[in-house]
Amino acid sequence: MGSPLNSSPRSADPPIQADVAVIGGGVVGHGIAWEAQRSGRSVVLVDDAPGSGASWAAAGMLAPVSELHYQEEDLLELMLESSSLWPGFAAGVAAASGSDSGYLTTPTLAVGADAADRAALMDLRAVQQANGLAVEPLTVREARRREPLLSPGIACALDTPADHQVDPRRLVASLRLALAGAAARTPGLAVDGAVEGYSIPDRAAGLLREGGAVAGVLLAGGGRIRATETVVANGLRAGELGGLPEGLRLPLRPVHGDILRLAVPQHLRPLVTATVRGMVHGIPVYIVPRQDGTVVIGATQREDALSDAVSAGGVYQLLRDAQALVPAVAELELLECTARARPGTPDNGPLLGRVPLPAGAGGHIPGLIIATGFFRHGVLLTPAAAAICRDLLDGKADPRWSAFRPDRFSRPVTAAGTHTKETA
Ligand SMILES: Cc1cc2nc3c(=O)[nH]c(=O)nc-3n(C[C@H](O)[C@H](O)[C@H](O)COP(=O)(O)OP(=O)(O)OC[C@H]3O[C@@H](n4cnc5c(N)ncnc54)[C@H](O)[C@@H]3O)c2cc1C
Repeated sequence: MGSPLNSSPRSADPPIQADVAVIGGGVVGHGIAWEAQRSGRSVVLVDDAPGSGASWAAAGMLAPVSELHYQEEDLLELMLESSSLWPGFAAGVAAASGSDSGYLTTPTLAVGADAADRAALMDLRAVQQANGLAVEPLTVREARRREPLLSPGIACALDTPADHQVDPRRLVASLRLALAGAAARTPGLAVDGAVEGYSIPDRAAGLLREGGAVAGVLLAGGGRIRATETVVANGLRAGELGGLPEGLRLPLRPVHGDILRLAVPQHLRPLVTATVRGMVHGIPVYIVPRQDGTVVIGATQREDALSDAVSAGGVYQLLRDAQALVPAVAELELLECTARARPGTPDNGPLLGRVPLPAGAGGHIPGLIIATGFFRHGVLLTPAAAAICRDLLDGKADPRWSAFRPDRFSRPVTAAGTHTKETA
């Protein structure tokens, strides 16, 4: 017991049963699964390539202050809520998994390369301050005292102490250990001896529908999961599932990002101690230092074809701009270039919550929770998403998060399900 499944159940197998089935094993799906499990529920998570989506690329900045955008006050509230949950969430994952998820309270330094960049960062600071967020200007001399390898040519620096980081790959690995350990201690999760552990290495083809309710998951391999609650957390692909409520529109679009991982030679360590978020002639770039002596440099934003191919122009731009801020970047060893798509939504907010039925019909679609569209903030928002889903499982809905209801871009939703295409 306790290890992830080696193979997916087939159509002839009896259905797997669990209190909660989570579709999608990125940071968000794993965070929700773990929170559900530690609330005492049996959980299964369906993904044939866990951790390989946007979460594989993410820099892991936990940056509600730096990520503030004009007219996104609801999102700011959610980001700040999640930021406040991070220390407890990280400690809980560490205790349950016996591993380190790479959560660090390293501060962030916002840096501008020229006068226009300085003006843009000072404008942003005015908005940040108006929202009660702490961002303090430093002189270039002060900034270079903290970070000696910063270029002497930078135009400005601002201290942003509340923006921290985690290593998303280590986080997913730690959550998997935590889930596996708890699954091993959960009697009753295994059904007819068919399931060991929590992880089902298959794709979800669709939702198992019974009457107006969602009763579990239909697997691409032909098997079925019966679950009291099903959480749709498969990122960009969420809208492709069969059996979604008729009329529910999940308008997800891929916003690709190129991102680099580099090793810092011993004589240059630490390259930087804080996360450096730069604006270089109007283009954003960041350098995130990891504990293991590597740095992450990211990230471009391009809305092109749905592919994970790395853009040569993107790599050039990132290295050029990172070097403008920290010239020693030229001496690092380039280890990895990665591109993935962020699951974007029209208003940049997640699609998170239950799916209400039209006024008059009352209530919501039983057994279904949506948790996708986390765009640029899925790592930061994982603890909040997990807590909100746990509350929903407990029958509670916090009105603060109604701005993110998943049907806000939909025509009236009905209890009927759309057709499931791929099932055997
Ligand atoms: C370059 C880059 C940098 C980023 N930096 C940051 C950052 O610094 N901070 C931050 O907070 N966020 C950042 N993000 C955003 C963050 O990565 C995403 O918001 C987050 O990873 C979304 O997580 P997720 O679990 O919803 O989706 P994903 O990580 O994309 O996971 C979705 C999972 O669903 C699975 N799946 C798909 N279809 C199915 C199916 N039918 N059945 C079963 N499983 C399925 C996939 O295999 C995948 O594992 C960044 C993103 C990118 C691309």
